[in-house]
Amino acid sequence: MITAAAAARAILTSLHEVMASRAGAQAKLNQIVDIIGDKLNSEVCSIYLLREGMLELFATRGLNQAAVHVTRMAVGEGLVGTIAANIETLNLAEAAAHPDFAFFPETGEERFHSFAGVPIVRRARAVGVLGVQHVEPRRYEEVEIEALQTVAMVLSELIANADLIDEEDAFGADAHLTGHERIAGLTLVKGLASGIAVFHQPRVTIEHVVAEDTEAERQRVYLAFDKMREQIDRMASQAEFGMGGEHEEVLETYRMFAYDEGWSRRINEAIDSGLTAEAAIERVQQRTRMRMRQIDDPLLADRMHDLEDLSNRLLRIVSGQLGTAASLGLKGDAILIARNLGPAELLEYDRRRLKGVILEEGSLTAHVVIVARAMGIPVVGRIRALRAKVREGDQLLLDGDQGVVDVRPAPALVEVFEARFARNRERQALYAAMRDVEPVSADGQRVRVMINAGLRDDMPMLNLTGADGIGLFRTEFQFLVSATLPARERQTRLYRDVLDAAGDRPVVFRTVDIGGDKVLPYLRHNDGETEENPAMGWRALRVTLERDGLLKVQARALLEAAGGRTLNVVFPMVTEPWEFDAARAVFESQLAFLKQQKKLLPDAIRYGAMLEVPALAEWLDVLAPRLSFLSIGTNDLTQFLFAADRANPKLAERYDWLSPAILRFLRRVVLAVAPSGTDLTVCGEMGGRRLEALALLGIGITRLSITPAAVGPIKELVRKVELSAIQAAMEGWLAQPPSDLRSEIAAWATAHGIDYD
Ligand code: PEP
Ligand code: MG
Repeated sequence: MITAAAAARAILTSLHEVMASRAGAQAKLNQIVDIIGDKLNSEVCSIYLLREGMLELFATRGLNQAAVHVTRMAVGEGLVGTIAANIETLNLAEAAAHPDFAFFPETGEERFHSFAGVPIVRRARAVGVLGVQHVEPRRYEEVEIEALQTVAMVLSELIANADLIDEEDAFGADAHLTGHERIAGLTLVKGLASGIAVFHQPRVTIEHVVAEDTEAERQRVYLAFDKMREQIDRMASQAEFGMGGEHEEVLETYRMFAYDEGWSRRINEAIDSGLTAEAAIERVQQRTRMRMRQIDDPLLADRMHDLEDLSNRLLRIVSGQLGTAASLGLKGDAILIARNLGPAELLEYDRRRLKGVILEEGSLTAHVVIVARAMGIPVVGRIRALRAKVREGDQLLLDGDQGVVDVRPAPALVEVFEARFARNRERQALYAAMRDVEPVSADGQRVRVMINAGLRDDMPMLNLTGADGIGLFRTEFQFLVSATLPARERQTRLYRDVLDAAGDRPVVFRTVDIGGDKVLPYLRHNDGETEENPAMGWRALRVTLERDGLLKVQARALLEAAGGRTLNVVFPMVTEPWEFDAARAVFESQLAFLKQQKKLLPDAIRYGAMLEVPALAEWLDVLAPRLSFLSIGTNDLTQFLFAADRANPKLAERYDWLSPAILRFLRRVVLAVAPSGTDLTVCGEMGGRRLEALALLGIGITRLSITPAAVGPIKELVRKVELSAIQAAMEGWLAQPPSDLRSEIAAWATAHGIDYD
């Protein structure tokens, strides 16, 4: 079987001769389409290049010659235009069936059914398209596509050297970048920042694509790998967050990639096909990028970004173009822009000057986002084609709260932003001042305000906010940021560190809530089947009770970590009491085992259940007396009560937490739990909003576990509220619900001097 490297090599050798010849540029292109067509046994081979903003047919074998320099299409028009617009490969057995297909009659292409095309890329922009076509409907083989992609790289060099494309046309389009523009993205880390746009990566320009001496290229890559691995090892040992943080896990994954033999082998194969070291690295990176686009799994995609980060590093080392913006140094307050950023790369920046980050990609669980959050740097992600909208040195206002970026803002806008910034700082200072103040209501009742956490990085928040403890520790976060299933020792280490950091404040550990939207690539818990309705599917306790190995390991880790202290453990998504009993039994049997081993046992174990599934509310008279505490997860509970997916943005605003349905339901839960005296906490997002928290106080909830940033605002609220007064008002509203309960509560707050924003 012919390998991709051999196919590409055969073409490249012939192309080399063409490029070295003295023929004119057009003649060269004509020869090239012939060579590629021959070697790939393709009836048609065509080259389209960008001229005056349009993609023009420059050379073809197989289509009508009369169409050359006549057939033109806009970027984004037809299949060729789509390839250029998206910088992506298309491989179609039936071209006309593709939604973007457009027919150009002068080419005579109607006879040809199959079509494959690859972009010709220069400086990260498509400057043309190389396409092949066949009469017979068939998909091109992977080796053929790879050969085409390699050839497209070589073509980009030839095209640039022969001045075949208008560089001004392709790259000089920045002149229009003058006015103010607001770009919307996705909030990854909240916060505000202003600064000058700095691109993380000054582009590495690849001078030569075709190798003169393959062995020498191989040697260059070999040395570059050595150097890169050395850098990564050094970085891992210097990580500024100390040992044991999630960063350690992140960097470990990173290091795993740096030493990945498969990756270096693929680069060597690309060199074998006749490419230079730089071109081979870029080639493999392109392929990774393409695969990444096809991957639906965000976690796996994050890992691929790490690989891309390393690939850039390798490219810089091998080409000697070493400087990222980090090594050149930041000159003033900067907002860093990157397609994606590796965690290690972020750590290289001067923290005093790095104010914010914008990523073209990025996701909430991306490693770099975890690191940025720990550094307190706001991040907005998922903003595409930034280089087309922002120039180096532009002024930027980054609003991580709203997930928007203002580019080249007018002075008036800067003023508004600065004022918000100042207000934010003031508010932060006010809330920080609440740190040592107890949340006692105006009528003297002590309310418990705790935080939700899930990572080691969250622990400092306990002291910074002065919260009463951790009301919900989402243990699945460790599983989510890890590349492999965390071993028991690693789990124990985390839980012990968390308990140490919390001191005498309670921590409620929730056993893993995986499944649903929190899919782990390394744990195919659902035998690879996709679920129609994952939130109501195979998740949380439903998984762990069946795969009880997982729960046993976690139980052991928690019991050992809590040796000599109190262990609070809560089970997620309990739907019927037997599930609680079964989960508890797993803990009890592990406890018996540890006792036998004469290990240090917890002084006390408090078992609780999450109330997230409405059905459980009907069991409370039976279940509550058996529980040490009950935690209401309003995020899930409300989605089930309203039958409205919590992750669906279209429904985000549709139903109100402050509806009589929710509040009456919760009120009944409060009353049902009361006789047992079981602790009752609300730990969903609802409790972190001031008006919602006021309503919860009104139905008799006095324990909240909320996002750390909300602790100051909620403490301040509690101190202003007379609980008996809001409870009386709430009783009236729930007995006879007004049409707009939110407005009623808001009016009540205003009348009582409570700012609820
Ligand atoms: C909830 O559902 O409200 C909850 C706290 O759990 P999670 O958000 O982790 O599902
Ligand atoms: Mg939940």
